[in-house]
Amino acid sequence: MKGRAASAAGKRYAVIGGGWAGCAAAVELAGAGHRVTLFEAARTLGGRARAVSVKTSGAERVDLDNGQHILLGAYAATLALLARLGIERRDAFLTLPLQMRYPQGGLDGGMDFIAPHLPAPLHLFVALLRARGLSAADKLSLARFSTTARWMGWTLHHDCSVSELLERFDQTARLTALLWRPLCLAALNTAPGRASAQVFLAVLRDSLGAHRAASDMLLPRVNLSALMPQAAARYVEQRGGAVRLGAGVRSVVAASAGAGWRVDDGAFDGVVLATAPAAAAALLPPGSRQVRAQLDGFDYEAITTCYLQYATDLALPLPFCALLDDPLQGRHGQFVFDRGQLDSSQAGLLAVVISASAGAAAVGQAELARLLAAQLAAAFGVAALAAPRWHQVITEKRATFACRPALLRPSHASGLPALVLAGDYTAGDYPATLESAVRSGVGAARLLAAA
Ligand SMILES: Cc1cc2nc3c(=O)[nH]c(=O)nc-3n(C[C@H](O)[C@H](O)[C@H](O)COP(=O)(O)OP(=O)(O)OC[C@H]3O[C@@H](n4cnc5c(N)ncnc54)[C@H](O)[C@@H]3O)c2cc1C
Repeated sequence: MKGRAASAAGKRYAVIGGGWAGCAAAVELAGAGHRVTLFEAARTLGGRARAVSVKTSGAERVDLDNGQHILLGAYAATLALLARLGIERRDAFLTLPLQMRYPQGGLDGGMDFIAPHLPAPLHLFVALLRARGLSAADKLSLARFSTTARWMGWTLHHDCSVSELLERFDQTARLTALLWRPLCLAALNTAPGRASAQVFLAVLRDSLGAHRAASDMLLPRVNLSALMPQAAARYVEQRGGAVRLGAGVRSVVAASAGAGWRVDDGAFDGVVLATAPAAAAALLPPGSRQVRAQLDGFDYEAITTCYLQYATDLALPLPFCALLDDPLQGRHGQFVFDRGQLDSSQAGLLAVVISASAGAAAVGQAELARLLAAQLAAAFGVAALAAPRWHQVITEKRATFACRPALLRPSHASGLPALVLAGDYTAGDYPATLESAVRSGVGAARLLAAA
């Protein structure tokens, strides 16, 4: 066994970018016996899913995530990577059944949809029967959607927008407002009118349409750098590799001997380019014009997370809740997470999430925080929520690519020998997520090692 591993291994590979795709690629290559150098431009690993240390408006220094994340039980590649790194799922996540729950008695109508622990598709039908705040017409409309989509194998012949799909499936206005629109924004970070129905169906296949455990929602209990990237770095270093932080790569050029690549001053047999598309286009050596055009062809959407700190004994009735947004009325919040129910050291800390948030971000940080706090106070009927001790607003302007219908995404192949692309944007049926990043990192590494 040892001999076989040694004969297939022993190459020197550079992985450029220490986000979730790059970390997954580095682990895959190091695990196969290769010498890996992981280059990350920032001082912290994790990329768009990382821990940040910030000075709050209350002048305290605290560790937060750059944005609240949620994972699904269907994230098989991510969960396999965590298991490989020895991370216990129980310690890493609070696991909740599939749900869309609004605050009771608030402005949001109190819609309450939660899947019981039953095998699929029974979990969905029981959830429908028990759902509160939906009329019989809404429930029928949801059952019809699920049955038709299942019958179609969750696949469309021609992609269209999510809005068109909902119209075609004759979905009620209330179900669209309370379920489909927030789901589409949360999963695709793109408004239903501009979002890909095919990608939306792929996500629904793995949530509404999947076996119960796949539809579970996983809320990280630890910060996003600790959740996976730091363990990935230890794994690589224990196998003779190196992790270089604050090491933004400036150039990738073909080695003069004709085989391999020079990454800045180092020589490597192969490269995984695991940055976001714009940085990949800037580093990609001259080669395929088609790949470069695809890398330059993405539009992006922002995500804003607003952290609000209250007294440590303040808790919401649930670990996370949906909120009915209405930007014209100053209600921008779409989901709220009670961080204290995930991590006791964050008692009293709420995270309000806004997807496709360019409009909300333009409001300005202090005003947005004030509006969100007022929205929470009204939604939960708790006046104290209007007055947080401090707030911190983090907007990631290029959080994800805009997930438009029939979007062409590049494959791992760069058109150049021993240089592969990895990242949440490469071809796949998922939107930009941790799972698409991890799948992409593993796939790119395997392709490189096999070449
Ligand atoms: C606020 C927010 C909320 C989100 N919520 C969710 C969620 O709930 N669920 C979910 O599944 N997904 C969510 N996502 C999406 C998810 O975080 C991303 O899809 C994923 O992190 C992308 O990983 P990546 O490795 O492909 O890219 P990146 O994370 O962008 O990694 C690329 C890395 O390359 C580095 N780099 C760039 N140039 C260089 C260079 N020249 N040299 C060296 N390094 C370089 C960057 O610093 C970065 O660390 C969210 C994203 C954001 C921003």
